[in-house]
Amino acid sequence: MIFAKKLAEALNMKNLFADRVLNNSTADLDEIFKNSANPENISFSGGFPDNHLFPEADLKQAYQDAITNDGPAIFQYQTTQGPLALRKKIAARMQQHAEVPTTANEVMLTQGGQQAIDLVAKLVLNHGDAMIVEGPTYMGALAAFDTYEPTYYEVPVDQHGMDIRVLRKTLRQHPEIKLIYTVPDFHNPTGTTMSIKRRQELVALANQYNCLILEDSPYRDLRYNGKSVPAVKHFDTEGRVIFISSFSKILSPALRTGWLVADEHLMTELINLKSAIDVQSPNVTLAAVNTYLDEHDLDAHIAKLNAAYKVKRDAMLTAMDRYFPKNVQYTRPNGGFFIWVTLPDNVDAHELLTDVILPQAHVAYVPSSCQFASRKVKNGFRLNYTSLAPVTITRGIQRLGALLQPQAAA
Ligand code: PMP
Repeated sequence: MIFAKKLAEALNMKNLFADRVLNNSTADLDEIFKNSANPENISFSGGFPDNHLFPEADLKQAYQDAITNDGPAIFQYQTTQGPLALRKKIAARMQQHAEVPTTANEVMLTQGGQQAIDLVAKLVLNHGDAMIVEGPTYMGALAAFDTYEPTYYEVPVDQHGMDIRVLRKTLRQHPEIKLIYTVPDFHNPTGTTMSIKRRQELVALANQYNCLILEDSPYRDLRYNGKSVPAVKHFDTEGRVIFISSFSKILSPALRTGWLVADEHLMTELINLKSAIDVQSPNVTLAAVNTYLDEHDLDAHIAKLNAAYKVKRDAMLTAMDRYFPKNVQYTRPNGGFFIWVTLPDNVDAHELLTDVILPQAHVAYVPSSCQFASRKVKNGFRLNYTSLAPVTITRGIQRLGALLQPQAAA
């Protein structure tokens, strides 16, 4: 394989690649994730759930029971949209957990939320089409959007979510914008949640400027403090909001099972697109997820996750309060997986990571530049707290904080 790669480089096969591949804004992430896989390092970079909290025995049982109960049909081709029984359960959860009244017809199973993002991008974006992303935003979404080569407009995020004043101004200046992508609940990467007022204003603006909203909400159920707010889709009166979520963070990412909720006029096209990509999500997995939901209380499992993740979040914030310099700012999320750190303007978090933090502290984070479509903001980084034990979190933050002290003073 290595030989084949070298040969391809020598023959300059990159000339043969499409622009969409060469423009990938997240290409330099490989290096960071490679370093974080090194067991010597304490990695705050991945967005991983805690390995020890997967309901291993229950999932094993669910797979076995699904195969026993469904018989040979479980191994057959099924519909692209996914099994009706599972779509009904998801529709009921949408009402209970997101205040979105919907039906099984408006739900489609996807291979993770990631595929849902890709499908929506494929539905909407021609080369050069205008869209809005938050700044910063989920880098995996940027990777998916990049493939369709849109023109990005960036709207900043503060502690109440997307800045609606900037959004309004951007839409006024660029009424050709087709799509607005937002992560309103425990945002990746900042951890902040959009206020109810802003959710209403966002939908009103999409109505006024004839845009679609892609609401990406895989962290919604992982709340450690405060009260849940209705989904953006709750305020949707014209079928403009496509809501996506996933079992990755609340059950297991290896299931590669997510879902999309869209009104039927969009759903027909989305089903066609998914059918062309993979025909259907793996049915054995979907049947096992459906059986898991029949046999077990997912909400009780989520309550267990929330109790454990709250301790980890608190461990990280307590250590940051103690060991980080005073002129370094950070968010205090009420849920989700991430804390966002802002360093003084003159510090480049990517250079700092590769030149100082990784070699000296053996700690990894995700620098800000690859989390902005513009790639221009360099003085921030994302920390994940869910995957490590509280003692390891404290140790890692202490080591990181010690090296931030001289940077922050410079
Ligand atoms: N959206 C957001 C905001 C995410 O953070 C992630 C995963 N990190 C995803 C979508 C995709 O997750 P998955 O495909 O595993 O559902």
